[in-house]
Amino acid sequence: MNTAYPRSAVFPGSFDPFTLGHYEIVQRALPLFDRLVIAIGSNSQKKTLYSLEKRLALIQKLFKDEPKVSVAAFGGLTAEFCREQKIPFLLRGLRSSADFDYEKSIAQLNHAINTEVDTVFLISSPHLSHISSTIVREIIMNKGDASAFVPAAIQADL
Ligand code: ADP
Repeated sequence: MNTAYPRSAVFPGSFDPFTLGHYEIVQRALPLFDRLVIAIGSNSQKKTLYSLEKRLALIQKLFKDEPKVSVAAFGGLTAEFCREQKIPFLLRGLRSSADFDYEKSIAQLNHAINTEVDTVFLISSPHLSHISSTIVREIIMNKGDASAFVPAAIQADL
């Protein structure tokens, strides 16, 4: 394997905003990897509630005491980002069969683009599988209480 960091993974996403569902996937992945890069894809076509800078800052704050975790932003293809960073694994969370159907083709595509990258899936815990950034954005935009869905350490910043 032509990689400088054999036990490292990229956790890519929009994280608009980072939720308890994302947080649990990271926590459960930590024993599996020496290094985890939470990578915010800056897809210019996707309108986000929080700016890239804000999302970076929130996730950095959340993992400031976790030396294995770093946070980055990237443009372009996820598989190319893995190649540049010499990282062999992608991490994704699965909440449902709908997630699986979507993620299956993305994982196959990423492997086709970069044969040195494989996707590792973790299945969400049942009590978190209803959480999505979309729902959290909806609550926040309607001035509701999203505290049950986002990590306590960043609640006040949202
Ligand atoms: P994207 O816009 O790329 O789908 P998201 O920020 O919505 O990015 O999600 C990033 C990753 O986190 C995806 O793999 C998604 O399936 C996973 N994820 C999101 N919410 C949850 C949750 N509640 N439990 C487990 N995984 C989740």
